[in-house]
Amino acid sequence: MCGVFGAFSRDGRPVLEDIYLGLFALQHRGQESAGLSWIEGGVARSIKGMGLVHNAISQGMVSSIPARAAIGHVRYSTCGDSILQNAQPLTINYAKGPVAIAHNGNLTNSGGIMRYLEDRGAIFQSTSDTEVILHLMAHQSHKMPLDALMDALRRIRGAFSLVVLLEDRLIAARDPWGFRPLIMGERDGVVYFSSESCALDMVGARPVRDVEPGEVIVVDRSSVSSLRIPVKPRRGFLCSFEFVYFARPDSVIDGISVYDARKNLGRRLAKRCPVKADLVAGMPDSGTVAALGYAEEARCPFEMAIVRNRYVGRTFIQPTQRVREAGVKVKLNPNPSVLSGKEVVVIDDSIVRGTTASRVVNLMRSAGASKVHLRIASPPVRFPCYYGIDTPSSEELAAARFDLDQLTEEVGADSLAYITQEDLLNAIGAPEGRLCTACFSGEYMEDDANGIDL
Ligand code: SF4
Repeated sequence: MCGVFGAFSRDGRPVLEDIYLGLFALQHRGQESAGLSWIEGGVARSIKGMGLVHNAISQGMVSSIPARAAIGHVRYSTCGDSILQNAQPLTINYAKGPVAIAHNGNLTNSGGIMRYLEDRGAIFQSTSDTEVILHLMAHQSHKMPLDALMDALRRIRGAFSLVVLLEDRLIAARDPWGFRPLIMGERDGVVYFSSESCALDMVGARPVRDVEPGEVIVVDRSSVSSLRIPVKPRRGFLCSFEFVYFARPDSVIDGISVYDARKNLGRRLAKRCPVKADLVAGMPDSGTVAALGYAEEARCPFEMAIVRNRYVGRTFIQPTQRVREAGVKVKLNPNPSVLSGKEVVVIDDSIVRGTTASRVVNLMRSAGASKVHLRIASPPVRFPCYYGIDTPSSEELAAARFDLDQLTEEVGADSLAYITQEDLLNAIGAPEGRLCTACFSGEYMEDDANGIDL
C-alpha cells in the first residue's frame, strides 16, 4: 500500500510544502520511503529518501523550491524491494519531455509487459511495477505525452491510483475497477489530489469529489478536464480492506465515512457473535473504532485495556517477519489496572499472520485478564491480495492455515469469532457489486485468480 498526493497552483503559488504536509497525513499508508517531484527548467526533479517523511525529506529544502505543480508519495512495498531505487515518484526525461509519476496499487500484468518491453530493448531502473507505465509511454514516443499516457493506462490491469506530472500539467488517474481511493480537493486556486481526504484536511483544502473509476483528470493553468480510460470492467473492486484497516478513520472514501463503516463493523460483530464479558477493548489503533461500535451495541463498557506506544509504526506494514515480531513486542502494553480479574472481549480489525493476535492475548493474560475473547471485525483473510496489500501467499495467512478451533488455540484465546462477508458489505454500505472482497472470498477480478500476468 502507498499514498499519493499532488497539487497544481493556477496562480503560481509554490506547492511543495503542501505536498510535504499532505504526505504527513498519508504516512499510515507507507513508512518505507517517501519522496516528492516537480518539474523545473524542463527537467523532472525529485527529493527522495528511506523511512518516514521527516527522515526522507528535508522541510527546509522543500520550502525554498518555487514549484507551482508537484506530486508526492509514501511507500510500503508490495512489488519490488524496499530500496531507494524503488522509492517514488519515479521520473524520466524522455524524447517528449519530463514525466514524474506516483502510484498506489499493484498492476497484475506488469511482469508480462516488462518482458515484452525488455525483448525490445527497454532497460528497467527499478523493480517497481510503476516503471512499466513510464516505459509504455516512452515506447509510444511518436505520440504526445498525454496520448502516450492514455495509451499506457489502457494496457495495464489491476490497481492504480496515480498522480502524474507532465511538463505543465498535473494528471490524476484511477483504474477502471476503482481499487484504491483517490480524491480531488481545492483551495485558493490550487487543485489537489490525494489518496485520502484526511490529507486534504491537512492542507486546508475542501474535498471537491472522488476521481471516478476509469477517470483521468487533467489540470493545467486554464482548465480541469476529464478523460476516460477505454476499458469496461464487469464490476467495481473498491478495496473493502481500506475500510476495515488501511485508511484513516477521519477519511471519506467514495462518499463513505471510514469511521462510520468501522463502527458499523463493530456493531455487526456484537450482533453476529455476542459473548459475556466485563469490558470491551480495541486493538490499538485499527480495532479501536470497531470496538466502540461493539461496546455500544453490546452495552458493555469500552476500556483502554491495551496502550499503544505511539512512536512505533504499524506492525503489519513492516517489510519482514522478524521486524514485524519485534514491532509487536515494543508497541503494545496491557493495562493491569483495567484487566485484573476481568473477562475481556478484544476487537481486532483482522487476523492476517496472527502474530499480533497471539501476542496481545498473552499480554492480556499476563496482565491479569481471567478470560480473553477475540472478535474480528472482518471475515477470515484466506486469500492473497494482488492489488496492493502485502499478503502474498496463503501460507502466510493464519485463517488459511488453520480452521477456527485450531486458530483459537493458536492465538491462545478463550473464544474467537468473525463477522461474515454479508455483514462486511452491509456495514460498509457501498452499492452492490462495487467492493472487492477477494482476500476473504477468493473472487478476483476477471482472470487474476491464478495471480499471474494477464
Ligand atoms: S484482495 Fe482484499 S486487500 Fe486486496 S484489494 Fe481486494 S479487498 Fe482489498
